[in-house]
Amino acid sequence: MPRYGNPEHPLRPEPLFPLFAPVTSLPGLGQRLGALVERVAGARVVDLLWHLPVGIVDRRYAPTLAEVEEGRIATLTVTVDGHQPGEGRRPHRVRCSDGTGSITLVFFHARREQMERAFPIGSTRLVSGRVERFGDDLQMPHPDRVGPPEEAGSIQTVEPVHALTAGLPPAVLRRSIAAAVQRAPSLPEWLDPAWKARQGWADWRVALAAAHAPTDEEGLQPGEPARARLAFDELLASQLALNLLRRRQRRVAGRPRTGDGHLRRLVLDALPYRLTGAQDRCVAEILADMATPTRMLRLLQGDVGSGKTIVALLAMLTAVEAGGQAALMAPTDLLARQHLARLAPLAAAAGLEVGFLSGRDKGKAREATLGRLADGSLRLVVGTHALFQDDVQFEALGLAVIDEQHRFGVHQRLMLARKGDAVDVLVTTATPIPRTLLLTAYGDIDVSRIDEKPPGRRPVATVALPAERLDEVVSAVDRAMATGAKVYWVCPLIEESDLVDMAAATLRAQQLEARFPGRVALIHGRMKGAERDAAMAGFADGATAILVATTVIEVGVDIPDATVMVIEHAEHFGLAQLHQLRGRIGRGSRPSTCILLHTPPLGETARARLRIMRETEDGFRIAEEDLRLRGGGEVLGTRQSGMPDFRLADPAAHADLMQAAHDDARMIVERDPELRGPRGEALRMLLYLFERDAAIRYVRSG
Ligand code: ADP
Ligand code: MG
Repeated sequence: MPRYGNPEHPLRPEPLFPLFAPVTSLPGLGQRLGALVERVAGARVVDLLWHLPVGIVDRRYAPTLAEVEEGRIATLTVTVDGHQPGEGRRPHRVRCSDGTGSITLVFFHARREQMERAFPIGSTRLVSGRVERFGDDLQMPHPDRVGPPEEAGSIQTVEPVHALTAGLPPAVLRRSIAAAVQRAPSLPEWLDPAWKARQGWADWRVALAAAHAPTDEEGLQPGEPARARLAFDELLASQLALNLLRRRQRRVAGRPRTGDGHLRRLVLDALPYRLTGAQDRCVAEILADMATPTRMLRLLQGDVGSGKTIVALLAMLTAVEAGGQAALMAPTDLLARQHLARLAPLAAAAGLEVGFLSGRDKGKAREATLGRLADGSLRLVVGTHALFQDDVQFEALGLAVIDEQHRFGVHQRLMLARKGDAVDVLVTTATPIPRTLLLTAYGDIDVSRIDEKPPGRRPVATVALPAERLDEVVSAVDRAMATGAKVYWVCPLIEESDLVDMAAATLRAQQLEARFPGRVALIHGRMKGAERDAAMAGFADGATAILVATTVIEVGVDIPDATVMVIEHAEHFGLAQLHQLRGRIGRGSRPSTCILLHTPPLGETARARLRIMRETEDGFRIAEEDLRLRGGGEVLGTRQSGMPDFRLADPAAHADLMQAAHDDARMIVERDPELRGPRGEALRMLLYLFERDAAIRYVRSG
């Protein structure tokens, strides 16, 4: 076991070293089994601590043979009466009795000598396994545990059951986890004593051991005290880390940014519409935040089509009025270009040019843009991740707007914010993240919500149809096209896979093309940028009327006159994703239709999702339902969500603890921002235990 910390974690406290050793440092785990354990739980001892049981096997039931109930797991004390060796397909049988009845132990593919050694005639044996009846005969096929009567203490117990991977014997995993729990040190208490007492929680090490040794089904529930404590610890670590980070961001002296409104006025006057009340309110909130001397970190939430772009632009113009520059970053090249296309004409009304930077731009044009950002002659820029590369320098970046943040990690967000002096950050998202999850992702972030759609929008009629009615759908599409409608046709895969029988976009595009020659365009993620741009442009200007697409159109694609969306294999999409997809239509004033094609039979969750989609377009309701159906981790539809992945806490089941951890963390940071008091010391240990080492750096350099 390495005694000294890892160079990446030079300050990890010594009591934790054994927990961050590889799992192969545990007894009985070599390379082969270690690799399997790593696959199921993780590579380090600490990962085994977080691999809690998902079930139990109760071996405490120890009846006589006269009393034993069939079908149950039982631990029996029996005398071995004789052997009936197997032959060919016939199993080896061991006849046993206990004075009240008899039972046969049955072993397939067993070697006779081995059996006779394990069950000497006349000996007493403990056997534990499931008891079954065949005719008059009681049988126990392949007992799980066998031993001499002295081992009753270790056999006649409640055994935890864990998530496994192929080839890993349950007993090996169980032993390794037990050894890991054994290795866990006693740690100083980081919980507030009053809160801990009120919850009736045990010390960390005791709770850890208890969570790994459930004695009944109750012990597996998320609300069970040992599990709740561990979940709270994890949530507290995450909230504390976020709070420390946030505090640091706030402390980097912000810069008050107020504009005189002259650029905003020009743009507003050029708009063909007036802002909704919700947009007005959000602009006011953002401007007030920018005007304060603390840095802004604000989330602008609004459903697809709610009009976030103009709100973001008004904030950007304010930054420019205040003497700064503003950048808008989007997760993909496609989206960045769309933002450019929408912002450029609006900004032109204020006499401002919008620059563009993406990974695809090279050479002279890029050099020119970089030069103009650095000397300040360019005040606005839109781009992708390319915006935070090292060679991008701003003369005075004042505001970073980050679109659809769930594609970015927290660190990327910070990197852009570092490109200037006390940069204000506005994150925009169409994902209606429920409050609990906002806390998990950001701790204290300020939120502005556009909770009202621009006037004149028509609701989207949503229907769910079995895939076998595809022909009817194609006919309906035909009729819709005859009235000038544009159609999105979404397929989940980009190439036909013979493994999974899913409609592939490429194939579907060919079939539709055969029916509607020259009217079908195709986009998918593996296409070259220029090809994709051409396909999008053709669809936008009406040259084509059906856009067959993979989920690359999920975020942001904006063709206001598209009014029909067909989603194949809708049952494979999560609610958030379906909602995002559907948001592409219903943007103009003409009525829109969304057709969810699915292949029966549907599971319960899939059926619930389709029902919710038919019932509502309210993103916040959909998000809450999604959280309920899937649990927190999947709410944003992807693992790359930037949302922390919890091992012990479940944002749906532990919502109350989440709130408590959030409040606790805030109080801690207010009272002891440097984590210097006695509780502070313990909290540092907590941060290291949950690998929030980065947060500790913020404390130190704070
Ligand atoms: P989001 O980015 O929130 O999905 P957009 O900002 O792209 O939405 O706005 C969607 C469409 O609505 C755009 O075509 C935009 O011009 C239009 N729009 C925005 N605000 C209003 C408004 N107050 N009244 C009418 N149309 C609006
Ligand atoms: Mg401010």
